[in-house]
Amino acid sequence: MQAFSCETPHRVLLCSIRPFRFLQLPADSRGLQTDLRDFGPYRRSADFATLPQVSETFRLGRVAGIPIGMNWSVLLILWLISWSLAGSYFPAVLPGHQSGEYWAAGLVGALLFFASLLAHELGHAIVATHLDIEVEGITLWLFGGVSKLNSEATSPRDELAIAACGPMISIGLSLGFLLAAAGLNAASAPELIVGVGLWLGTVNGILALFNLAPAAPLDGGRLLMAWLWHRRGNRLEAVVSAANAGRIFGYALIFVGLVEFAVGLGLGGLWLVFLGWFLLSAAQFEKSQAVHLNALAKHLVGELMTADPVVVPENLSVADLLDDFVLSHRFSSFPVQASDRQITGLVTLAQLRLVPAVNRERTCVKSIQTPISELVLTTPAEPADQLASRLASSADGRALVMEHGTLVGIVSSTDVMRSIDRLMIRQEA
Ligand SMILES: [Zn+2]
Repeated sequence: MQAFSCETPHRVLLCSIRPFRFLQLPADSRGLQTDLRDFGPYRRSADFATLPQVSETFRLGRVAGIPIGMNWSVLLILWLISWSLAGSYFPAVLPGHQSGEYWAAGLVGALLFFASLLAHELGHAIVATHLDIEVEGITLWLFGGVSKLNSEATSPRDELAIAACGPMISIGLSLGFLLAAAGLNAASAPELIVGVGLWLGTVNGILALFNLAPAAPLDGGRLLMAWLWHRRGNRLEAVVSAANAGRIFGYALIFVGLVEFAVGLGLGGLWLVFLGWFLLSAAQFEKSQAVHLNALAKHLVGELMTADPVVVPENLSVADLLDDFVLSHRFSSFPVQASDRQITGLVTLAQLRLVPAVNRERTCVKSIQTPISELVLTTPAEPADQLASRLASSADGRALVMEHGTLVGIVSSTDVMRSIDRLMIRQEA
């Protein structure tokens, strides 16, 4: 049987664990992106500005408690895979069937391939869950799958276990599909069914091999990082080395893709260019994230918080809040307190903006605030890097700093960004 066709975009799909976590900007921070780009170090590396986003368009459900989502681009890839299998691959290797049979085989193959990809991601996610790392979810998208983990592995051994499990599942699936195809063939099953099994065995093998390339953020890059971390005992150095390998790999893919496109090998070349570009930016992002978190690790929340924030009473109307507080203070969020002085939540300018002008008099702050139960709480003594990681997974990117039950400060993503900026400038000086 002919080797796996290289003409179509499904030849490489990658899996990537948590490439886009750090200091996610709050949804209401319009304009903040621009601010960031104007910051010194970010202007140079444009880390945050060029970061590709993997967003979930549909929620598919939960497996083992882990939310599974899908980006709309998966539909496009599903169609491309089915189309190339039904339109060229199966007719070439197994001629003489009806078009409908090819399409059925193509669709089944494409769906089972995405199921295999999901199994690969679940491998990472389930191992992470067992190691007490919170998994926000798995998203399938254009280039494959992403498992979003909310914190980092605490040892090289944990990092290795999380990274290794995905490719191991793909290798297992590859062998399983190949054995099933051999069994079906021996049992004289229809040749198209055997063909689908062989194809699935092959692509799962390719998926495992490609992802084992020693280049972050691919699984192989994480294995490399775990090994270097174990050998050198320095996590930051290991992350930077693995990310550098990822950048080289990204450049190599772009180069190969451009050459393929130039010599007329089809759209597969362009696909490689996009994939390389994606890997390049993800590797660059991982590197700067590690450097920044490392800079923050030497500092405490108390050093970067805005102390003694302006607190507003919860029965205040939105109109009064706008007149008496917003216009006279530079803050973009205000902690809210009840009459017994207990803090009950936080209200942001974005939330105030959503209240139509005609309703401002009769809407009280309490009804639009984010309740304290949904806010990130910290203490002045928490290491700043730990808070930064927690803020990245919070909805509005702000934390209240409490000490002995009293509010002493507030930290926003912007505060953290500014601190990183100062620290980086000081390091460069
Ligand atoms: Zn993986």
